[in-house]
Amino acid sequence: MKKDPALSPDIDVNSLHALDWRELLRPDEYAVLRQSGTERPGTGRYLKEERAGAYHCAGCGQKLYGGDAKFHSGCGWPSFYEEVEDGALTTVRDASHGMVRVEMRCSRCDGHLGHIFQDAPQTPTGLRHCVNGTALVFVPEGEDALEVIRKHRQG
Ligand SMILES: [Zn+2]
Repeated sequence: MKKDPALSPDIDVNSLHALDWRELLRPDEYAVLRQSGTERPGTGRYLKEERAGAYHCAGCGQKLYGGDAKFHSGCGWPSFYEEVEDGALTTVRDASHGMVRVEMRCSRCDGHLGHIFQDAPQTPTGLRHCVNGTALVFVPEGEDALEVIRKHRQG
């Protein structure tokens, strides 16, 4: 059986070869998480998701955002004002596309998630984590995360 870090929390993610990611992820997930792609605005999953629960990394399964930190920014991507706990994300200065932005990545698998902007004064932090829905798997409150992710993989 192939190794899947999302279903086996003990796997050393650094041991995974790029080829494994291509086998594990859907093509659109691979493009975002492993190639720093961006889904077209308004097209990603979870834009209108409002249920209680948590958003996990579609690459490695790490919990990244609580549903209570999600807000409607109108920007076309799922938006959150803070990560679920310190250490869930790493941030990188991104000077691509003629802009200087703060990119955030999953701290476990280094998958690209999106960018952080300081343009959300309506939120407690003032921050907008602009996340590709493609990079996330939503786990409704009360459901088992591994089971939800397993189903998503089989999707
Ligand atoms: Zn991850």
